[in-house]
Amino acid sequence: MRQVIIIGSGPAGYTAAIYAARANLEPLVVASSVEAGGELMNTTDVENFPGFPEGIQGPELMTKMQEQAERFGAEVLFDDVVSLEVDGPVKKVTLGSGAVHEADAIVFATGSAPRKIGIEGESRLSGRGVSYCATCDGFFFRERVIAVVGGGDSAMEEATFLTKFASKVYVIHRRDELRASKIMQDRAFKNDKIEFVWNSEVVDILGEDAVTGIVVEDTVDGSRREIELQGVFVAIGYDPRTHLVHGTLDFTPEGTIRVDGRSSRTSVDGVFAAGDVIDPTYRQAVTAAGSGTVAALDLEHYLAGLGEAGAPDVTGDQIQNLPEADAA
Ligand code: NAP
Repeated sequence: MRQVIIIGSGPAGYTAAIYAARANLEPLVVASSVEAGGELMNTTDVENFPGFPEGIQGPELMTKMQEQAERFGAEVLFDDVVSLEVDGPVKKVTLGSGAVHEADAIVFATGSAPRKIGIEGESRLSGRGVSYCATCDGFFFRERVIAVVGGGDSAMEEATFLTKFASKVYVIHRRDELRASKIMQDRAFKNDKIEFVWNSEVVDILGEDAVTGIVVEDTVDGSRREIELQGVFVAIGYDPRTHLVHGTLDFTPEGTIRVDGRSSRTSVDGVFAAGDVIDPTYRQAVTAAGSGTVAALDLEHYLAGLGEAGAPDVTGDQIQNLPEADAA
């Protein structure tokens, strides 16, 4: 029986673990067997995480966070949660290995997963030319023609990165202006290997055993055309990874876990949520880390209340009026 189990090992999970470990709560972090470290493991340069003026590689940043949590006593398990029972005061977490762990509280910080276009050919050719991770698969597309689908920061980052390998990169975007930040747009616009295909949606991915082309539809006049290429990188955003708690926790209309005000408290006592699973808007490494901090502080107050007289009823106002030393 633990005081807390943290599910997820992205910036939210590890930051919650650092705070909880420093509060002597000896957290167990269930980090996932293959996706430990979260989405930053699939990123190259992280240039906007404060404290690294020259930038830092995503995987290196996550390794540092893990080491920092372990330094203060967090235990990290590279396993997957297969089921979760959170109704009563004792929360039960069953892992892929069959082990069952129990705790007074849970921090749920499982992040988000790449969104799919949802068209024919996409899942059939996944791993055979369709990819969701440029840093993982870019190497296989040396001197090939590829497309990146999307108009956000991820799409610009992937397109720019893929020009290191590909002979040409089409960026297929459904509108005539990008969602990406100015700096990422400028970088992509300046790159000679990138060609933008505006107002276009990918409606089919062609090929039997490997990608040979795509069909794009003009969103203005509905006309269709084929583009011959060998790879499609889908970068159209992320959906929160919440299947473990569907039917257990309350959700918002945007599909994120509902929390109480600015806190991390979910609709179930003793279950706290942090990072992309509660954030439909910002979804940055640094905001996820901040969210992990909030979860650890909420958790500490919950556990302190349990020690005194059962589950506490802490309101948003009370959290805002915490003594400064607690809130810092
Ligand atoms: P995003 O900002 O939500 O952008 C998704 C893009 O995909 C949009 O351009 C959207 O088009 C398009 N899209 C969505 N669904 C589509 C569909 N079904 N078919 C075709 N196109 C579709 O997602 P993101 O780029 O993954 O970024 C997520 C967050 O991470 C953002 O906050 C971003 O700033 C951050 N991020 C930051 C960095 C960095 O700073 N280094 C790198 C990557 C991501 P519309 O524009 O028409 O909606």
